[in-house]
Amino acid sequence: AKGEKKETHKANFAIDLPNAKVGEVVTRFPPEPSGYLHIGHAKAAILNEYFAHEYKGKLIIRFDDTNPSKEKVEFQDSIIEDLALLGIKGDRVTFSSDYFDQMYELALKLIKDGKAYCDDTPLLTMREERMVGDASARRERSVEENLKIFTEEMKNGTEEGLKNCLRAKIDYQNPNKALRDPVIYRCNLTPHHRTGTQWKMYPTYDFCVPVVDSIEGVTHALRTNEYRDRNPQYEWIQNSLGLRHVDIWDFGRVNFMRTLLSKRKLQWFVDKGLVGNWDDPRFPTVRGVRRRGMTVEGLRNFIISQGPSKNIINMEWSTIWAMNKKIIDPVAPRHTAVDAANAVVVSLANGPAQPEAEQKPKHKKNAEIGNKTVLFANSVLVDQADAASFLEGEEVTFMDWGNVIIDKIHKSGDVVTGIDARLHLEGDFRKTEKKVTWLANTDDKIKVQLVDFDHLITKDKLEENDNFEDFLTPETEFKSEAFADLNLKTLKHGDIIQFERKGYYVVEKPYSDSQEMVLYTIPDGKAAKK
Ligand code: ATP
Ligand code: MG
Ligand code: MG
Repeated sequence: AKGEKKETHKANFAIDLPNAKVGEVVTRFPPEPSGYLHIGHAKAAILNEYFAHEYKGKLIIRFDDTNPSKEKVEFQDSIIEDLALLGIKGDRVTFSSDYFDQMYELALKLIKDGKAYCDDTPLLTMREERMVGDASARRERSVEENLKIFTEEMKNGTEEGLKNCLRAKIDYQNPNKALRDPVIYRCNLTPHHRTGTQWKMYPTYDFCVPVVDSIEGVTHALRTNEYRDRNPQYEWIQNSLGLRHVDIWDFGRVNFMRTLLSKRKLQWFVDKGLVGNWDDPRFPTVRGVRRRGMTVEGLRNFIISQGPSKNIINMEWSTIWAMNKKIIDPVAPRHTAVDAANAVVVSLANGPAQPEAEQKPKHKKNAEIGNKTVLFANSVLVDQADAASFLEGEEVTFMDWGNVIIDKIHKSGDVVTGIDARLHLEGDFRKTEKKVTWLANTDDKIKVQLVDFDHLITKDKLEENDNFEDFLTPETEFKSEAFADLNLKTLKHGDIIQFERKGYYVVEKPYSDSQEMVLYTIPDGKAAKK
């Protein structure tokens, strides 16, 4: 490519991890297998990988599978695949559930040390007590009583066990509410996707993470900073159990305008049938954005350019799509499409009586992309919008062909229904004002469906008290028909092209005899069309 600067996004955060020694750093990415990987997770995963790599240490991929009600093997498998797609392969893949026995023993130790108690206070009362800083009526249960409830009732998921949970006895009045005796074990009778019905109770995130981080040899736990209040709790658990200390390093969550990143909410869209599935092109999942035409390189560049920012940022989608455009533009083959709605037939009086084929480069600046067949004929199609701009007697340029003189414009009301014209190939294309796309109107052209999408929600940034269901975009999928050049027949699912003067598209359904070819619009970072 002539003089085009190739963008290099070299990761250079110029940030050190505290107490980090080259060769000894161990980080972990701990997804819960309760949904597909989304671009927020991708940020966490790439940051963990970055530090592990930078310090010549190790990365653990840990499935944080402590809530059987939400977790599935399907999600687990998809997470591994999507991480691989992003070029992330952990040195080890582990599961929180591998440590259920050890965590159980450690919970017993806390109880025996008088540092945890079983509590059957109703949920709402408990929440209220934690809010105002009141002690639970069960806080002073004896060690014996706690042991009995924990090992006989909770462990077996009895009726009495189900009423109870285990709480760390930290400080019910602490200004930091995270320290007000957090719940560390609770019952759940749903079979676990790995341990089946062996357990009837499970550690909570708050107990599991500091314990497993320590046991697994993690040196630096990267957490999004909405957990900052819970850092003292994390340390309390390690200290109280005499476990090895782990340094916490926090970073800002990434959010996107008009986008939900909560797996629970995304699951709602799937369950309601408002999207196809987790890989829907309107979803911010790794699969969704890939299907929409995001390249892995574009995604990685975006995340690395964000660096380890501590601010919770609400990103514009245009930023990430603009980065993607830089990747696809130099390599996307150029093709031609004409909107089928009101496409205008231009009859060229002196055009070739029999269609003529010529080989032309698919990309003017990149010969490596190869050639395509361009057909020239005496009947061609142009977009209604272009046709409507022509004047009788005007000389215009048909791109990659030459000049054309418009003789007669046939109209029905404001709609152009046909044009009589003639080629004027000696004409100078530098002197015409209009350069238009055209397509030979022969049986070789193919009909395709073009699909564009809008965001699923209408509000840029949902506030804490907003119910996302009140902000659903009524229509999020826009289909139109177009005629396209015959070369599209060889494209495969996922191939990215540009329709000249229209934009970038990714092939969803390839050409076949039995169904219409479908292409999705790839946003290119310019203001979204509403
Ligand atoms: P969700 O609310 O969608 O369930 P989560 O944070 O509970 O998200 P996990 O599977 O527990 O999902 O997350 C795995 C890792 O990804 C965690 O370390 C979490 O902090 C990180 N993460 C999740 N969402 C984001 C985000 N929007 N930006 C940055 N990191 C994120
Ligand atoms: Mg989580
Ligand atoms: Mg969450």
